[in-house]
Amino acid sequence: MGRLDDKVAIVTGGAQGQGAAICRAFIAEGARVVIADIAKEEGQALADELGESAHFASHDVSDESSWIALVQDTVERFGPVNVLANNAGILRFGEIEKMGAEEFEQVFRINQLGCFLGMKSVSPVMRKNGGGSIINASSVEGLGGMASLAAYAGTKFAIRGMTKVAAMELGPHGIRANSVHPGMIDTPMTRVHGGDLAMEFGASKVPLRRVGQPEDIAPLYVYLASDESSYVNGAEIAIDGGVTATHAFGG
Ligand code: NAD
Repeated sequence: MGRLDDKVAIVTGGAQGQGAAICRAFIAEGARVVIADIAKEEGQALADELGESAHFASHDVSDESSWIALVQDTVERFGPVNVLANNAGILRFGEIEKMGAEEFEQVFRINQLGCFLGMKSVSPVMRKNGGGSIINASSVEGLGGMASLAAYAGTKFAIRGMTKVAAMELGPHGIRANSVHPGMIDTPMTRVHGGDLAMEFGASKVPLRRVGQPEDIAPLYVYLASDESSYVNGAEIAIDGGVTATHAFGG
């Protein structure tokens, strides 16, 4: 018996990094999973590897028409959606005085609008089906600030807030919404900013003295997707090796 038997899940940004680990873990626990991503080659390769319980869908989270097609296709292929992992996101560094409005807006459209459109698109199907679980990828940058991340942190704080609104609005329909707040995780998103050196520096700041791996994060998504978390709604869960356990003078 898998912990996600009979569940149908959409995982955005599922082609690589944490999203790919989430897809693998969901399938290992018996779910059928739509890997929704703009990265066609990586997404299709993962779907081929995972077999008939997986399907790759070319999808842009910032585009509402893409969401409508994705949800419709998922329902036709696998049945009503029980789980949405709103995991897709991008990271852009830039000080407030230097970042252009266009780049700021790009981060907003993918991270924040994408998360909103995901909740908006799946909730009618979940409501009709008696409930579901929405898991929104925020960050430790949704719990505290970091220089050069006004755009990114802004979206991650917004995701934390929108999750609580969703918990209030959708809870009466049996739909739970929770936000996940990873610390520094070893994925293409973080590796691109300095590789091994960045990982070593990051690890030195973490009480557990290591950065996280995607496989550290996926089990939390399995828990939140499963009925084991049936009374967890509107929660924000840090999964960060302890980096948010202290403050600036405590490290
Ligand atoms: P990643 O860059 O490795 O993977 C992100 C995925 O999102 C990629 O497959 C990419 O193609 C996809 N994507 C980008 N734009 C998209 C769009 N418009 N539509 C659909 N898919 C799109 O990143 P990751 O580290 O796996 O991050 C996953 C989530 O976790 C993100 O929301 C990120 O902000 C968050 N997060 C990451 C870290 C970290 O340290 N890596 C820490 C905290 C939170």
